[in-house]
Amino acid sequence: MDFSLTDDQRLIRDTVRRFMDGEVRPTIRARDREEKFALDELRKIGELGCCGMLIPESWGGSGADTISYVLMLEEVARVDAAMAVALSVTNSLGALPVLKYGSETQKRKYLPPLARGEILGAFCLTEPQAGSDSAAITTSAARDGNTYRLNGTKSWVTNGGQAGLYLVFAKTDPTAGARGVTAFLVEPSFPGFRVARYEDKMGLRTSRSAEIAFTDCEVPEGNRLGEEGQGLKIALELLDGGRVGIAAQAVGIAQGALEASVAYAKQRRAFGKTISDFQAIQWMLADMQTEIEAARGLVHNAAWMRDTGAQRIGAYASRAKLYAGEMVNRVVYKAVQIHGSLGYSRESDVERMYRDARVITIYEGTSEIQRMIIAKDLLSGHSVGAVDGGRA
Ligand SMILES: Cc1cc2nc3c(=O)[nH]c(=O)nc-3n(C[C@H](O)[C@H](O)[C@H](O)COP(=O)(O)OP(=O)(O)OC[C@H]3O[C@@H](n4cnc5c(N)ncnc54)[C@H](O)[C@@H]3O)c2cc1C
Repeated sequence: MDFSLTDDQRLIRDTVRRFMDGEVRPTIRARDREEKFALDELRKIGELGCCGMLIPESWGGSGADTISYVLMLEEVARVDAAMAVALSVTNSLGALPVLKYGSETQKRKYLPPLARGEILGAFCLTEPQAGSDSAAITTSAARDGNTYRLNGTKSWVTNGGQAGLYLVFAKTDPTAGARGVTAFLVEPSFPGFRVARYEDKMGLRTSRSAEIAFTDCEVPEGNRLGEEGQGLKIALELLDGGRVGIAAQAVGIAQGALEASVAYAKQRRAFGKTISDFQAIQWMLADMQTEIEAARGLVHNAAWMRDTGAQRIGAYASRAKLYAGEMVNRVVYKAVQIHGSLGYSRESDVERMYRDARVITIYEGTSEIQRMIIAKDLLSGHSVGAVDGGRA
């Protein structure tokens, strides 16, 4: 067993860290206040190869492994969690489905610009009345000759209004339940596509979450992804991979909060000492670091499983997302506590991290949904937990 990173993995981590500390950190507080989307920063990090990390070089991507991908997301989220979710959606929910299910024409048209960061991806599953229960979506897609006409509303679409490609799930057969859902590649220029409004969020203020309305939106037959009825299978498979990225985002936010807390504890003085001299503060820091290491282990294990081509990576991704999502909320709570009143002020980074972290137990499947996936896998007898982590 070897836990060390390869030279390539270390190079990716260090390059992204330098970029985030040098080019993004100086503006993050102001951008959060102004709710300014990091378009320029995303373009630049796209040039470093971070938008199509899991896409082969032949399609314009980096051809990197999943460990490198989660290292990139961790480093981005350590400074700017909103940028990390834009990258996670573009990589995992935008480019990967085209690679896996796309026709040659679809790949040729969409993969190179996505992988190079020239366009961002978006994933449209959730609707106002259907979140966790994704089979309950009502957006419809009716065939009309060589086109489909989409009608309905999608909510909470990350990168909404900024993306160049939207993966939209709609019912081609409303009587077939989960088997009646089909996936479509939709460009914002298609007639009948409209960004209806933006959400006013607690955190991730620089990331756009849009409601998208489809009114007789015309989608050519050639933009159907996969077969009719295959949509929900595609969506759930993508979310298995996406969750590893969201878990890495959690580890990154927590790492950023820990680093800020250690620096503050070493310089803030009370009762004639620095607060880092108090055992109460030391124990909080020790618990934060220990939990971050545990979550990072789960994330790397799930990423490694994906790279080995293992079946059923869903439960590994869910365990990483469940633990990391709950962990980061405990960590940012302590980070604010260590900063005292400064932690409650928008002058501190941990105040933003506290707001940004909250969503991680909600999106790409709530903690309750992760527990359902884990329990189903456990009770089916697959991974009761052996010394090898049930990898066999
Ligand atoms: C910032 C942000 C970005 C997002 N980005 C996207 C995106 O890009 N694309 C997209 O499609 N969606 C996106 N979402 C939507 C997100 O995936 C959903 O919010 C999430 O799936 C939960 O759905 P819901 O909000 O409707 O909650 P609900 O499903 O209504 O759940 C409400 C509560 O009930 C619980 N619950 C539901 N069912 C069960 C059950 N069977 N057993 C136990 N408890 C249950 C939930 O865990 C939760 O606590 C985003 C959301 C946010 C906040």
